[in-house]
Amino acid sequence: MPPKKAGICDKCQAALFQRTDDKEETVKKRIEVYKNEVASLVEYYEKINKLQRLAADKEAGIVLKEIVMLVRARNDSLKV
Ligand SMILES: [Zn+2]
Repeated sequence: MPPKKAGICDKCQAALFQRTDDKEETVKKRIEVYKNEVASLVEYYEKINKLQRLAADKEAGIVLKEIVMLVRARNDSLKV
């Protein structure tokens, strides 16, 4: 999520900077790792019907609440 004022932190007003490891090469590598490792996990859990998806492009607190709700719903259905 971008800051309200460009280049300034919303919470402490400090100047924002780009991390030195935030480069094209690093991002390409992350995408490769996703393809090689994460994608097969997604496929696996989808196959055994245990994959839950949610949109994580909202405010962090809202996303957390949604994750907790999904986990609770899953636990209730286990009837342990
Ligand atoms: Zn800050």
